[in-house]
Amino acid sequence: MRIDLHTHSNISDGTDSPQDLVVAAAAAGLDVIGLADHDTFDGIDAAQRQAEIEGIELVAGIEISAQYQGASVHMLGYGCARDDAELLAELARIREARDNRVPRICEKLTDLGLPLAVSQVQAQARNATSLGRPHVADAMIAAGYVADRQEAFDRYLQGPARVRRYQVELAAGIELVHQAGGAAVIAHPWGRSAREVLSAATLAALAAETGLEGIEVEHQDHDEPTRKQLRLLASELGLIATGASDYHGRGKKDHELGCNLTSPLAYRQLRDRMTARAEARTARQR
Ligand code: AMP
Ligand code: FE
Ligand code: FE
Ligand code: ZN
Repeated sequence: MRIDLHTHSNISDGTDSPQDLVVAAAAAGLDVIGLADHDTFDGIDAAQRQAEIEGIELVAGIEISAQYQGASVHMLGYGCARDDAELLAELARIREARDNRVPRICEKLTDLGLPLAVSQVQAQARNATSLGRPHVADAMIAAGYVADRQEAFDRYLQGPARVRRYQVELAAGIELVHQAGGAAVIAHPWGRSAREVLSAATLAALAAETGLEGIEVEHQDHDEPTRKQLRLLASELGLIATGASDYHGRGKKDHELGCNLTSPLAYRQLRDRMTARAEARTARQR
C-alpha cells in the first residue's frame, strides 16, 4: 500500500486540477491520496469523482493556516464534515484575510520597483478559491521579475514584501477540526517557522491538552536526523506519525507524488481516529 496523505491542487496553490492530481497519483502507483488544499474543501468533490474512476482511495483533507506564539503552523484536518458551520466560518475568515493581503503585497512590490496589479495575480490563480503568495510569485514570474517561486519567496515574499495575515490559533484550529468530526495532524512541525515554537515539550502539551492525533514526520522539510527525532517523539507521545509529499505540481520542486509515504499501520490508526471523531460528532448532534 502506497499512501501519500498531503497534496495540493490548483484550488489552492498547486498547479494540477483536482482531477489531474488524482490521475497523476494513480500513475505514480499510489493507492491512497490525501488532498489537503490550504483553507478550502473546494477541490474534494472533483478529486473524489476522479478517484472512483481511477480505483484509488481519496482522503478528504484540508491544511489550515494556524499560528502558535505568533509563528505560522500548518494543521492538517482529515475527514471533517465539509458542511460544519463553525469550521466553514473560520475557513471563510482565513480566506478573506488571504484575499485582503494580495493588494497589500502588490503595493509593497510596486514600492520596491516591481509594479504588480491584483488582476495579474488573479490571472495566475484561475481556479483557486484560496489565494496565496505562490500565485503572487507566479505573477512575478509572468512579469519577468523572478525565475521561479523559490526566488520570489527568497528575495521578496518572505523578505521586503512580506505582509502578515490572520491565522487561527493552533489549539482553536485543532478543536474546530475535532468538533467537525475530523482528526488533526500538525503538518511539517519542524520545518521552517513552526520549528521555532513547537518544542518537544510544546508538542507533548498539545498532545495531552488538545487530543491532537498526529504529526507529519516524513516530509521534505525534515532532514533525516529530524525525522528520526520526530519518529521517537511521536511514539513517546502516542501520536500517529504520517508521511507525505506535500506535492504542489510544478509549484514546488523536489516534492514529487509518493516521495514520502505514510505506513499502512499509521494509516489504519488514523482512519480509526477519524471514525471515532465522526461518531462522536454524530452522537453530539442527536
Ligand atoms: P501562503 O499560503 O500565502 O502563506 O504561502 C505559503 C505557501 O507558499 C506554502 O504553502 C508553500 O506552498 C509555498 N511556499 C512557501 N515557501 C516557498 C518557497 N520557498 N518556494 C515555493 N513555494 C513556497
Ligand atoms: Fe502550499
Ligand atoms: Fe504546509
Ligand atoms: Zn501543504
